[in-house]
Amino acid sequence: MNDKATPPVLELANVTKTYQVKQGLFSAPRPLHALGGVSLRIHKKDVLGLVGESGCGKSTLAKVLLGLEAPTSGKVLVDGKEITRKERKLQARRIQPIFQDPYSSLNPRKSIEDIIALPLVAHRIGDAASRAGSVRRMLDLVGLPQRVLKGYPNQLSGGQRQRVAIARALVMNPEIVICDEPTSALDVSVQSQILNLLGDLREELGLTYLFISHNLAVVEHLATRVAVMYLGRVVEEAPAAELFAGPRHPYTQALLESVLTPDPNLSVPDTHLGASYPNPIAPPAGCHFHPRCAQVRDICKTTPPPHVTGPNGHVDCHLHTLPTT
Ligand code: SF4
Repeated sequence: MNDKATPPVLELANVTKTYQVKQGLFSAPRPLHALGGVSLRIHKKDVLGLVGESGCGKSTLAKVLLGLEAPTSGKVLVDGKEITRKERKLQARRIQPIFQDPYSSLNPRKSIEDIIALPLVAHRIGDAASRAGSVRRMLDLVGLPQRVLKGYPNQLSGGQRQRVAIARALVMNPEIVICDEPTSALDVSVQSQILNLLGDLREELGLTYLFISHNLAVVEHLATRVAVMYLGRVVEEAPAAELFAGPRHPYTQALLESVLTPDPNLSVPDTHLGASYPNPIAPPAGCHFHPRCAQVRDICKTTPPPHVTGPNGHVDCHLHTLPTT
């Protein structure tokens, strides 16, 4: 899908994000490593599916990419150029978000026209007439009738509201769209319509997506590559077809098994994983996944896993360096 000779349109180089968290009124703050050194490369028109359970760092990563949070260390590069704190406004123009919940992400007191035009107003782009033209074009693009312009979010269905959120993201003519669980608040019947719309828009506008989801089945619909996150780290990354045909990390294997359960929206069932998600303030020693891993070895309990690279991606797991028995 991508041309490896061209630089990635979006790159994260060893990005970390640490928060200081208090667990009680009188306790000293302790570090929570929300991102523990994430490196990712996304090429133009690629869809990188970023998958993992709640609390794995997916949303922190989205905030860093959108310039809403500064990384503690590491770099974010767009077209090979580092985005610094000063350039956040430029970053905001080139990278736009679509959030999970169209009910809460749209201001109920604003008309649909004002909501879609808001990014243009905030960035002082165009005059009133040109903004109105842009808004009308966006409605056509996302398949909404012009008559909704003067209406309000509460007059629309969930799917229509998400179309408004997509129109608002695209009105800035971004290169990269961060889709943060864009269908998980919608009825199943509407989810596939929104996924199809996102796929069509990618083709038509040459967009690049980072598609964040807890649900591998949703990611499979669109992704060209998949990165699997666990406790702030990417534990496996591969082309989508390769990862779905032969997942290499035991956590990815468990996520895929959960897709086969009757209700994949329930996230990852613990029956496959043996233990609940660990406290990120006190992660397990060695491989952070070891208390839940069905294939755990003694070395996994004490020694962090190696980063094993291949021609198309990587996996962080001792199984891929230990001699087979
Ligand atoms: Fe499981 Fe060990 Fe691999 Fe971690 S390193 S995923 S515990 S086998």
